[in-house]
Amino acid sequence: MENSGILMTKKLRVALIGNPNSGKSTIFNALTGGNAHVGNWPGVTVEKKEGRFKYKDFDVIVTDLPGTYSLTSYSIDERIARDFIVKELPDVVVCITDATNLARNLYLLILLRELGVNTILNLNMSDMIEGKIEINIEKMEELLGIPVVMTSGIKNIGIKDLKEAIISVKNIKPEPLKINYGTDIEETIKHIEQQLGKLSSPYNKRFIILSILQEDPQIINEVKNEGFEKVIESAQIKASQLEKEFGFDLETEIIEKRYGFIQSILKQCTKRLISVEEKLTISDKIDKIVTNKYLGILIFALFMWITFQLTFKIGGIFADYIDQFFTWLGEIVRSIKISHIFSSLIVDGVIGGIGSVFVFLPNILVLFLFLSFLEDVGYMARAAFVMDKIMHAIGLPGRSFISMILGFGCNVPAIMSARTIPEEKDRLLTILINPFMSCTARLPVYIMFTSVFFVKNQGLILLSLYALGIIVAILSAKLFRVTIPSLKGKISPLVMELPPYRLPTIKGILIHTWERSREFLKKAGTIIFLGVIVVWLLSFFPQSYEYGSEGTLIGRLGHILSPLLKPAGFGFWQAGVALIFGIIAKEIVVGTFGTLFGGEENLPNIIPRLFTPLSAFSFMVMSLLYIPCIATIGVIYRETGSIKWTLFSLTYSIIVGYLTAILFYQIGLLFI
Ligand code: GDP
Ligand code: MG
Repeated sequence: MENSGILMTKKLRVALIGNPNSGKSTIFNALTGGNAHVGNWPGVTVEKKEGRFKYKDFDVIVTDLPGTYSLTSYSIDERIARDFIVKELPDVVVCITDATNLARNLYLLILLRELGVNTILNLNMSDMIEGKIEINIEKMEELLGIPVVMTSGIKNIGIKDLKEAIISVKNIKPEPLKINYGTDIEETIKHIEQQLGKLSSPYNKRFIILSILQEDPQIINEVKNEGFEKVIESAQIKASQLEKEFGFDLETEIIEKRYGFIQSILKQCTKRLISVEEKLTISDKIDKIVTNKYLGILIFALFMWITFQLTFKIGGIFADYIDQFFTWLGEIVRSIKISHIFSSLIVDGVIGGIGSVFVFLPNILVLFLFLSFLEDVGYMARAAFVMDKIMHAIGLPGRSFISMILGFGCNVPAIMSARTIPEEKDRLLTILINPFMSCTARLPVYIMFTSVFFVKNQGLILLSLYALGIIVAILSAKLFRVTIPSLKGKISPLVMELPPYRLPTIKGILIHTWERSREFLKKAGTIIFLGVIVVWLLSFFPQSYEYGSEGTLIGRLGHILSPLLKPAGFGFWQAGVALIFGIIAKEIVVGTFGTLFGGEENLPNIIPRLFTPLSAFSFMVMSLLYIPCIATIGVIYRETGSIKWTLFSLTYSIIVGYLTAILFYQIGLLFI
């Protein structure tokens, strides 16, 4: 009772669905105050994310679903989205659309309407169409039979209206939309409908029949399992008769009819205020250049080089201060009268190990800042587009490159993003090559060495390592493609839409940068910390030897490996153990050196005693390629569900890393 005076909170479950890049995560954050990852990039959200808000008497639970163009079940993320709607039955589904691209975005809404889900249409990005397109909301509501709400997620406009709409439609079950598919298809639908008995799905039978005609494997299976094998069979026969008779592809026909319906809605409800062409030309002109097959690569390399150069320049300013701070801290602790073992643990282990990694935090921040900027502006999608053309030309799925670029940040989410790839073969391939992409954890290794040996060409050296990662990944993909039977086959065509260029907000970029840096800090406090403690323990015992000397446990461990590493130019035990512990997390490669050489002496002074410029380079190559870190191995296993592929990936990368490092070193020797 409303007037009872007792506040009864009622639970309401809401799902956000929409095309990739329509602003779901932005709306999710605006609704819930949450922090879902937002990016101008298709396919960022691959897992559903939950949050909640309170509005009036309602406690609303919101789920942000992965981006999806349709409700078929071809790729994992689409299946996650569809299953959620069909099986978890949320009370309200908000279909988020990019108002600047309704012709395409409304397709998903049409499907939801056919399904008969309780839907609200959200026209997002209203700020982008202001003064350009006028939308008649009432008319649209009338034609679609559901509420329509305009928002600008980024400017926080219309969010309250959206909340209001959500609670106002909570109990409504709208009549499913019925599009006329033409006499032939309609007759077929009717024919199947008569044979089909009661189904357990609460959703519209007509939608299910249309899905059967579109050969949706999951729905066909479900209907079969309910005892209707015969019906499916006769539906399929009927469908192929129809296709033969009229010479069209049934699925295409159905899709076209839906788009026709959308066009008629748009014609009735929208008015262009200025010609769109005018607006498009600038973006088109830029795209012509940056997505040009040859120029595009050069521009991509140039942008990356600038990014790296600035990573060093700006990051380096702060790095010195951090370094001085840790040295100072080490001296203080040493001067305190505590037991030797404890003081060594703090100074050599914690300060030496963690401190040596922390020094690179400013560089990492700057790199993230630039990558976030390039991503948010919409440039990274162009880079992926360029690489797609090239990869396609050599017979590889271009879609992989989006995951590859995401790998610049961290391989774990990058590998997960492969879920958006519908073809299982392509997905597997994408997962297998991702560990070669140079993630941020490798950055400390590069910076440590380049700032000692390659001061003048830091940006270039870094660029060459990132490029090497890409090249090894692409060559490996090609190799797998031709040699591994289960990865052979036709490449699926890529439909990649270029997101619009957007001037990113400072807040957006900062949030982005912070999200990624937070991961780094979390890692420093947990896994890197544990790693360096283990390194310290092994360097301290047995106590009869000097700390971090050959006789200690770690020295002995390193000695097992060092003969093997000799051909690559770093056949001393310290390099061996650094690589071993780097498997835990690549930052620990640097952390190990930091711990071994204690908290006081500067690593830049010690490194030249062990490495030459050439062996430093081959060591960086090795660090880049030799093995993914534990977290990545874990995610490879989780995403492939196969020990076999996980082991394969491990073995393969060790071999490739080892051989490539040797190759660089030996060839380098010839020239020196
Ligand atoms: P998702 O892939 O659907 O989750 O989309 P995101 O929430 O990640 O947003 C994609 C891009 O669109 C990001 O760059 C956002 O900053 C931007 N964006 C989201 N909502 C709006 C909006 O209302 N107006 C404008 N101009 N940009 C928006
Ligand atoms: Mg998202």
